[in-house]
Amino acid sequence: MADIKEALERNFKNVYVCQTCNARLRCGTGKPPRCRKCYGKRIRQKKKRRKSV
Ligand SMILES: [Zn+2]
Repeated sequence: MADIKEALERNFKNVYVCQTCNARLRCGTGKPPRCRKCYGKRIRQKKKRRKSV
């Protein structure tokens, strides 16, 4: 079951969302310095969501 956990981490842990333009930014390690679309610095980590609300 480690594969699923790794996949989830890969999909969510290293993914960040720009709070300005909602662009998804994938980064291997650490936080991306800024959004590549709007160059904003308001970036948060993508959170895992459930399917229905
Ligand atoms: Zn942006």
